[in-house]
Amino acid sequence: MQSPHRPSLLRKMNVRKVLEVIQSQGTLTRADVMRCSGISAPTVSKAVSALLDAGLLEERETAEFSVGRPGKLLQLPRFSAQVIGVILDWDYCSVVASGLDGHLHEDKLDRFKTPKSYSELIETISRKILDLVEKEEIPALGVGITVPGLVNSNDGRIFLASNLHIVDGQTPAADIANKTNLECILVQKSTSLSLSEKTYGAGQAMDDFINLDVTSGFGMGVFTGGQLLDGQHGLAGEIAHITVEPEGGRVCGCGNQGCLETVATDLALTHYVSQRVGKELEFDTIKELVQKGELDITPELDRTIEFLAIGVAAAINIFNPSNIFISSRLFDLRDDVFDKMTEKAKSRALKPSSSSCEIERSKGNKYLGAVAGIINHLANGLGPRLT
Ligand SMILES: [Zn+2]
Repeated sequence: MQSPHRPSLLRKMNVRKVLEVIQSQGTLTRADVMRCSGISAPTVSKAVSALLDAGLLEERETAEFSVGRPGKLLQLPRFSAQVIGVILDWDYCSVVASGLDGHLHEDKLDRFKTPKSYSELIETISRKILDLVEKEEIPALGVGITVPGLVNSNDGRIFLASNLHIVDGQTPAADIANKTNLECILVQKSTSLSLSEKTYGAGQAMDDFINLDVTSGFGMGVFTGGQLLDGQHGLAGEIAHITVEPEGGRVCGCGNQGCLETVATDLALTHYVSQRVGKELEFDTIKELVQKGELDITPELDRTIEFLAIGVAAAINIFNPSNIFISSRLFDLRDDVFDKMTEKAKSRALKPSSSSCEIERSKGNKYLGAVAGIINHLANGLGPRLT
């Protein structure tokens, strides 16, 4: 039986496709869009009109002639419209404006220590967003917020942020929307990094890739068959909380014991090194001491790499990706860390999968992740309104 939602889903997919083509190719005419997307002229025309009306595209005249008349070029607005990216994290938060083409207005990037309470967090961020919007005399189309935690994609409520408990059970997108009157969307940090890779980075032409963010938690975003893997509530890909140390493992922010997240991240290394030296050290301090030759972290680093490789091998076996992008500062600690980890991961994974999987450091940018999240959301919202 045909789903009653099918027509709007198809229209939504067409809008997304048109936007993706322009995101990956830059400035194009309507004819170029048809050629690159394989979509028919009337459908391209409808999708382009909806994107222009929503301010997600802009059109400019070109001196070049196309079929005897001046052509019009379609492009993503850089300065005529903006979106706001908000990064929530356990140590620092940031607010940044961006053009829709992913050009960050970095001179207006505001980074600040994470407030201690949820109400203060919402108040501070809303004020900073309004300041930014009022300062620039261009329309803001929406706000993309990322959080290092588990988000219910159906209602935008955070189930759990293991390293930022003040947001547990909260709905920051709805609360910030109330204070700013802007459309807001909340995306898991790992998902946003995958979106950034797919929208602006190396993943543009890829259908099957994984983004791992192992800086504080062990976040994974998966694109499979060109689609972001979501699951029933948007919680698919939670590799962080599989048990790898059933006996005597550290208690995880999720309440269980011995999760992968407690042993295979930058934060895990920081914890174990701090524990051995007997005082709280930050990652940067550890890095500095290691580089000066004043601290040997070989046992902790080897153990962290071992567990990271187990996680990467599991991801390869389960999803058979062509590429895995990893964000981690562990690789900055010594020249051989990345190669060592890759070798271990590949030797643990199934050969047919691992031999054709490229593992590389992520160039995904967390700010662009938030920006890609809101643009994706705005484009998705256009589908049903197209008739
Ligand atoms: Zn856990």
